[in-house]
Amino acid sequence: MSKKTHIAQTDPFRWEGIPLLAYKEDGGTHFRDVTRQVLFDDSEHHDTQLRYFEIAAGGHSTLERHQHAHSVMVLRGRGHALVGGAIHELAPHDLVRVPPMTWHQFRATGGEPLGFLCLVRRERDKPQRPTAGDLAALRADPAVGAFIRH
Ligand code: MN
Repeated sequence: MSKKTHIAQTDPFRWEGIPLLAYKEDGGTHFRDVTRQVLFDDSEHHDTQLRYFEIAAGGHSTLERHQHAHSVMVLRGRGHALVGGAIHELAPHDLVRVPPMTWHQFRATGGEPLGFLCLVRRERDKPQRPTAGDLAALRADPAVGAFIRH
């Protein structure tokens, strides 16, 4: 990770020397059209990482939960986020708080990319994906059932 004190934006939502990564290394079909860039990862001075995710129009992140929390700020586009039992409409500069062990999923529902910053602990547990029982529980709310992709 760069120790430079200034990293210029090179293109919209791209930064000098910061690679565009796959959203998750394991691939899979539980997400669609998501990229990841790790903006800050300074283990010497911080226990956190700041990442920028971008979901292409129509895409979605994984429906998951985990012990670690997410602190999110939307930077571009429109979309929706499921957090627990609530579906939130997202616009630029909105904040989204994902508490521990809370089901969450981001979708670029607005016909444009949805880009957001996401702050996490560097040391964190692996996400859990829903079991059949979890999905049945989520679908008890028809709005949530209609929203989720997995
Ligand atoms: Mn997550």
